[in-house]
Amino acid sequence: MNINLNFKDIRMLKYLLSDDVWIKKLQKIREVFDFYSSVDVLLFESVKEISIYLGLEVPEWVVGTYFDKTIIMLDYEIWKNKGVGTFGQILLHEFVHVVITKITKNRCPVWLNEGIAMYFAEQQVNIFKKTNEDFYCENIFELTYDNEELYFISAITVDRLIKVYGIETILFRIKNVSNYKEDYILGVDNIKRISYQYCI
Ligand SMILES: [Zn+2]
Repeated sequence: MNINLNFKDIRMLKYLLSDDVWIKKLQKIREVFDFYSSVDVLLFESVKEISIYLGLEVPEWVVGTYFDKTIIMLDYEIWKNKGVGTFGQILLHEFVHVVITKITKNRCPVWLNEGIAMYFAEQQVNIFKKTNEDFYCENIFELTYDNEELYFISAITVDRLIKVYGIETILFRIKNVSNYKEDYILGVDNIKRISYQYCI
């Protein structure tokens, strides 16, 4: 199967193409979202270069990002020892954002987009090791990238939703819901209810 990623710099291939497991994960994401469009992958040497390219200030901690059907990756040599994941994981994470943003026409809430990206990139495992404390976020739909707990909150909430309803149901809701905040599964009230169950 053609993975249909258009790598603009072949240096990225050495981290990926010998990795059958990674390729299967990418194909799985394409299948579950029924998304087979070509996606460009660009490589940058510094965060500053990314900021200039995007015309906006990108935070120093960013190692990958995306816009429309383009993934932007920072050179792995710069961040491979930071413990934020592998090159392949971050690429899958950004790929999920491209897909979700496209199929929801950019309506998906930040926490849901991040939590699903972390689920498919298998990053939730890393984050759950950090803390076992019970957790509930009152204003999850207002979360932005300014909140340093964003990734933790997103991962733990999506994990709870998947445990209760299964991934297929969650993906179906993401694709078909018109009002996320009021949805009977993804909405504020239900997240509160599920979180309460986990916290007692
Ligand atoms: Zn993300």
